[in-house]
Amino acid sequence: SSDEEGSEEYLFKIVIIGDSAVGKSNLLSRYARNEFNPHSKATIGVEFQTQSIEIDGKVVKAQIWDTAGQERFRAVTSAYYRGAFGALLVYDITGKDTFESVRKWLDELNAHSDSTVAKMLVGNKCDLESMRQVSVEDGKSLAEAEGFFFIETSALDSTNVKQAFEIVIREIYSNVS
Ligand code: GDP
Ligand code: MG
Repeated sequence: SSDEEGSEEYLFKIVIIGDSAVGKSNLLSRYARNEFNPHSKATIGVEFQTQSIEIDGKVVKAQIWDTAGQERFRAVTSAYYRGAFGALLVYDITGKDTFESVRKWLDELNAHSDSTVAKMLVGNKCDLESMRQVSVEDGKSLAEAEGFFFIETSALDSTNVKQAFEIVIREIYSNVS
């Protein structure tokens, strides 16, 4: 809808996927509310959060979806992916297995969404450097091979959280505008 002559509004759905406990819910709560929960349980009730940013003088809204813990049972439904314009594929840099799962999440995303979905590979928990099991190079080369963006984040200390979401939002905007 547009209120004024020449003003447009954009609304893009973005999904966050990845293994359980990699920090998906905390990345979203850090971005949308500047909150971190050290003892977070599976998200209950909230399906998505909406954040607006301004690009080229236009209001661009991102409707960012978080799983309600279904990923533990590999039961993320097709409705979750439907209509997505962007995706954050999250792993935990201290858990090699979560990095190895990225392939599985990518296959699932591709099965349920358009190939043009803007994708960001996110290595979360970069504050835990001493426990690192996945090198920056491994993250980078996977992203390069697949043509994704790549970033390491910490929902705990806020490193690159805003960037992770906003690079995706800007990419979607530039693809559609
Ligand atoms: P989800 O299952 O992927 O949604 O993961 P959560 O956001 O629930 O986080 C799982 C656990 O990891 C929680 O105990 C969080 O406090 C913790 N956590 C999440 N992000 C970070 C981070 O960037 N750094 C550290 N050190 N812990 C994190
Ligand atoms: Mg969660």
